[in-house]
Amino acid sequence: MIDSHNHTDFSEDCFIPLETMIDAAISQGIKHYTITDHLDLDYQDKRFTFALDHVQRKAAIRQAQLKYKDHINIYLGLECGIQPHVLDESEMIIRQEAFDFVIASMHTTHKKDLYTKDFYQGLTPIQAYQAYLKEFAFCLDMMNEYDVVGHLDIVKRYEPSLQSVQLSEVEEDIIYLLKIIIRKNKGLEINTSGYNDPFNHAFPHPQILKWYYELGGRVITLGSDAHFPERIAQHYEKALTMLESIGFEHITVFKNRKPHTLSLSAIKEAWMLTESNI
Ligand SMILES: [Zn+2]
Ligand SMILES: [Zn+2]
Repeated sequence: MIDSHNHTDFSEDCFIPLETMIDAAISQGIKHYTITDHLDLDYQDKRFTFALDHVQRKAAIRQAQLKYKDHINIYLGLECGIQPHVLDESEMIIRQEAFDFVIASMHTTHKKDLYTKDFYQGLTPIQAYQAYLKEFAFCLDMMNEYDVVGHLDIVKRYEPSLQSVQLSEVEEDIIYLLKIIIRKNKGLEINTSGYNDPFNHAFPHPQILKWYYELGGRVITLGSDAHFPERIAQHYEKALTMLESIGFEHITVFKNRKPHTLSLSAIKEAWMLTESNI
């Protein structure tokens, strides 16, 4: 079992110590566990910096890798919040730090925060959705130091009016973005935290995953985006069934920024067994 998107108290918005998260992951039957704390340079909500103490964090994760090596594979990952003006600095840090896995996520657009809803002011739902996708696509094209795109359609989480936007209305922008990542051999993460939202699906929406599949995209990672132990590997059964129905056969895990594929049906089988034992 895999969980490729997790936070610890090295992230400014998470208060759970690394070892508490690891213990919970082991008890959930996770074998491949990636810690992806936030780095979000020039984050626009100035109550947060989302800076990372890379030295201390790396030392703690290296120590945990040794301590838990007989139980779980722990990977040094990063969730990098991207904006056009911080790409160079972010890439420099990523090259220096020898991460196993990097997720590129967009938490701000037009230098305005999504979470605080500043970004949505003065925009119609479609304008907001399109502006987010355009800036995201621009960054994903300019940047190279990432492996997958984080929670691709999270823009609709923070402003409920965007949930009324039909995907056909933003299809062109989504296809444009997907073609960029396929051309660059990057992947998409399935972020199961979306199942906790009223729209009740993982990020991205299954239709976006279908388009990705039809365009030839096959690199899929799986993560819960857990900020709490009880959220680790949450909603996996639904996510795995959905991926299988689209036609995906593998889930990818990154180590030293290199993809390793695992059979989706084997993961699903193992997951069902673990669940029935709990
Ligand atoms: Zn995120
Ligand atoms: Zn996250």
